[in-house]
Amino acid sequence: MSKKTEADLLKEKLLMTRKHGVQRLDEDKVKEADEFCEPYKKFLNKGKTEREVVNYTIKMVKKAGFTEFDVTKKYKPGDKVYVNNRNKALLLAVIGKNRSKNGVRIAAAHIDSPRLDLKPVPLYEANELGLFKTHYYGGIKKYQWTAIPLSLHGKVIRKDGTSVEVNVGEDPSDPCFCVTDLLPHLASEQMGKTMVKGFTGEDLNILIGSRPFRQDKGSELVKLNLMRILNEKYNIMEGDFLSAELSMVPAFSARDIGFDRSLIGAYGHDDRVCAYPAIMAAMNCKTPESTVVTVLADKEEVGSDGNTGMNSSFLRYFIADLAMQDGLEARHVLSKSKCLSADVNAAFDPTYPTVYEVNNSCYVNNGVVITKYTGHGGKYDTSDASAEFMGEIRRLMEENEILWQSGELGKVDGGGGGTVAKFIANLNVDVVDLGVPVLSMHAPFEVVSKIDVYMAYRAFLEFFCVKEKKKED
Ligand code: MN
Ligand code: MN
Repeated sequence: MSKKTEADLLKEKLLMTRKHGVQRLDEDKVKEADEFCEPYKKFLNKGKTEREVVNYTIKMVKKAGFTEFDVTKKYKPGDKVYVNNRNKALLLAVIGKNRSKNGVRIAAAHIDSPRLDLKPVPLYEANELGLFKTHYYGGIKKYQWTAIPLSLHGKVIRKDGTSVEVNVGEDPSDPCFCVTDLLPHLASEQMGKTMVKGFTGEDLNILIGSRPFRQDKGSELVKLNLMRILNEKYNIMEGDFLSAELSMVPAFSARDIGFDRSLIGAYGHDDRVCAYPAIMAAMNCKTPESTVVTVLADKEEVGSDGNTGMNSSFLRYFIADLAMQDGLEARHVLSKSKCLSADVNAAFDPTYPTVYEVNNSCYVNNGVVITKYTGHGGKYDTSDASAEFMGEIRRLMEENEILWQSGELGKVDGGGGGTVAKFIANLNVDVVDLGVPVLSMHAPFEVVSKIDVYMAYRAFLEFFCVKEKKKED
């Protein structure tokens, strides 16, 4: 190799290195990343709705010694607890040596993902086909949800108060469902429409069957036959759909992508790709200095409202419970607390370069992405992290050799989006977004890099395990 010029040396000293971040990792780290992602794929397959993620996570953490939080019990450093909020949101905490005296350290991810929810009265028959009406949940490009296999997940509360869990379409021997689309031969009118109008919300009807009830004469015999099958299998009546939460999600499993197997394609990376590393960090952080809290929130994809969303008080109440254990006020604990809002950002996609600003986009395989602010046009609807907190997190990444990059969501005025960061920041907590770059975000099949997933885990773990400065003790 030729000798470095003065310009080369000065560049090394003064300028940032971007891209090819993966080349800065040794083979062992790459192998660790690949291994970390094997159980993550299983987590994705087992948790396609927030209810399933809560259920699966509780099983995981119980094995690691977590017990259900009991407000009347006095906890000691190293104790591990969880709070189950209505089976749809979950808090994990590990009590630290300094408890909540210096604030707590929070990693907050969400476990809901875009999908098609069944309407309260979903079942109908049209032209001898049986269908479900849906109302989509979260930001989707509707055409992406047509002509792909879908599975049905959720819970039905029967008239008598008993309940039944539904999960059909995941096992290869199960039937699955789909939204039909128009054949190209007859789509000349549809193809002339804008993408928003080409496929509307009321077109997202799910095909669920086609055979009528025996050879009887009468109307709606396909619907009747389907209700008969549902009644046999789940012991439910048509009216029970009124008290149900049933969702259609993509039926495919998580798969490695690429000849090099460097990527994972799956439904629901946003935001299980941050939730899983944040759960693993809570499970593996031993006894931290300050108490650490992993938040798995629901309802992020629809604005975080509702009692399982981050805009509700469930986190604040839990911090108040922790503070009370230590004879402190919640507001004092919150004011000293720090949070990584664990959510994804849009990875630069070379097929659609015009929507990204190259210097401020994040790139697949370049590590965890730190997003100072989200929101839209003129920094609306976001909590812009302070220079001080950015500095603190940046040092944490550098000191622990965590591959990281900064990112902004697309070009200025190109659109926008938000995370739970602002809701936690509004509790007077220092917050910044940190997560994994995603290709095809919100599509039924999203793509992430294994290295980035692993770096998210490393980031949360080091954030939890941080050694506090002496003056704080
Ligand atoms: Mn998200
Ligand atoms: Mn999202």
